[in-house]
Amino acid sequence: MSDTIFSKIIRREIPADIIYEDDLALAFKDINAQAPVHFLVIPKKPIPQISAAEPEDQALLGHLLLTAKQVAEQVGLSNGYRVVINNGADGGQTVYHLHLHVLGERQLQWPPG
Ligand code: 5GP
Repeated sequence: MSDTIFSKIIRREIPADIIYEDDLALAFKDINAQAPVHFLVIPKKPIPQISAAEPEDQALLGHLLLTAKQVAEQVGLSNGYRVVINNGADGGQTVYHLHLHVLGERQLQWPPG
């Protein structure tokens, strides 16, 4: 897979507002927030998209969800939030390094656009 902007963020080659990091994952604020709170949770392993995840990634994928939950609590999203994974062209994915969007602090609508 080719290098992405998120790999550069992991390596601290470009700046980001990082709000959580551990051995497996990183969370940082989205540069183009779609809600008052909008952060991304990414694996350090460069899985390009959820459809490219393998059975061996099971624990890592669970870790990303639990990280999303933990950081949501950390930033005070006590009234709910949405976790989104865009996959591929029809899913609207633009950065091909797997990421979970976490959006909150406004009433989100359904269905999404
Ligand atoms: P996607 O459309 O692939 O699901 O989401 C990619 C997200 O990455 C977008 O919400 C976009 O605003 C965010 N993004 C793209 N480039 C950067 C960057 O350099 N820094 C940060 N913090 N977010 C970025």
